[in-house]
Amino acid sequence: MKPLLGVCRIAFIWRGISPTRYGSTMDRDSGTDWITCPFCSRASVFRRLDIINGGVLWKCRACNRTRREELPPLRKQIVYLDQWVISNMLKAEVGRPVTRAEKWRELHGLLNHLISDQLVICPDSCYHQEESALIASLEPGLRETYRRMSRGVSFKTPDDIGMFQLYQSLRKFVGEDQLRGYTFGSSDAFYGNPHEWHARLYVTSDLSRRFLDPERTRRAREQLAEHLDEVAERNWKRRPATFDEDVAAEKAGYARGLLFQFAEACAYMTAMNEGRQEFDPGTYLDCLYRGREVLWMTEYLAEKLGDDGYRGLRHLLAFFASPHFGATPFLQIMAKLYAAMARHVRGPGRKPKPSDSVDVNVCSYFLPYCDAMVLDRAFAAITREGPLRLHEVYDTKVFGMQDFGGFLDYLVQIGRDPQRAQTRALYESLDHRSVF
Ligand SMILES: [Zn+2]
Repeated sequence: MKPLLGVCRIAFIWRGISPTRYGSTMDRDSGTDWITCPFCSRASVFRRLDIINGGVLWKCRACNRTRREELPPLRKQIVYLDQWVISNMLKAEVGRPVTRAEKWRELHGLLNHLISDQLVICPDSCYHQEESALIASLEPGLRETYRRMSRGVSFKTPDDIGMFQLYQSLRKFVGEDQLRGYTFGSSDAFYGNPHEWHARLYVTSDLSRRFLDPERTRRAREQLAEHLDEVAERNWKRRPATFDEDVAAEKAGYARGLLFQFAEACAYMTAMNEGRQEFDPGTYLDCLYRGREVLWMTEYLAEKLGDDGYRGLRHLLAFFASPHFGATPFLQIMAKLYAAMARHVRGPGRKPKPSDSVDVNVCSYFLPYCDAMVLDRAFAAITREGPLRLHEVYDTKVFGMQDFGGFLDYLVQIGRDPQRAQTRALYESLDHRSVF
């Protein structure tokens, strides 16, 4: 087993301040940045040290006492970059073959500056981790690239994000939430606060990587792609249906899938209790995990609406049949994306690609929390088709490779924010000697 330190990494953030531009750190001792300490009253000993938890920490170098200065709240643009964008930026940087390398370098540089200036954040996700692990030769570089751009802010797993949204739907179903729409709070979707002021140091851990198994990921991806092909060939092509009928079928299919997983988990547990099944920790945990959605939803409904003798299971079936379930954002997006793909398969349009299932998940779970997304070319086009028009429904800009120029323009526009100069000045006023 690797030692703990071997999988942890401390990374410096330069924030665009080059040592030559800044001059020697010792020169600044005589500057005006040092003020009189409010505690010990010595002159030229008190100054800004670092930014911690959304505030500036001031410190006296004589008496070591500190004071905190609150900073105004930030509102960054949350931009999701598909794996191919990260991969192309890295390839251009390290000199691997990639078309339009110059453009990718330009994009990478622009993004790094906007992230350093706290105007943009590009959260990473389980899909970045999984897909990076599939390319062994580039994996360390890919990991470093997406982490530098996420500053440790990661999307929660799709299952967790889905549960937050289903919880809102359940509350509407039992009449506790009278709001018509859904809220998309950062804490529902992210580990870490995307709008937080950066400290100068950030620490990331590679612990979760230990559980990544590229072979397993590859097999799971292949199975998903095969399943999608099968659905396209057997269902979509042979069975004519309207867009709305396909949407309804997808939603019902999702509910059936949850119940099926729960039934499988119950069957396994029963068999184990009766001694017909050997105990296997992996399968046991897998069963608990896959049955958990139905479990917590039935328990919630039993608590709110009363135990109907089936511990809320009948209420759950009524919930699945209700408009509240169908209105759950991730499910709406997912069902409509698949319905749009079915429309393409029936017409002269495109066939499903192996990566489509992942793109559907990325869109369904992450899109409402993003200001902008960069996705696969054809997939980005699908999100804009009627009646999906996801960019309008969720006010999220969606770019594909064909909109590369549009994405650059969007970023350049963000860079014109007047807040940028203030942020830079603040970071340059920090005591760099304490870090370097
Ligand atoms: Zn002092």
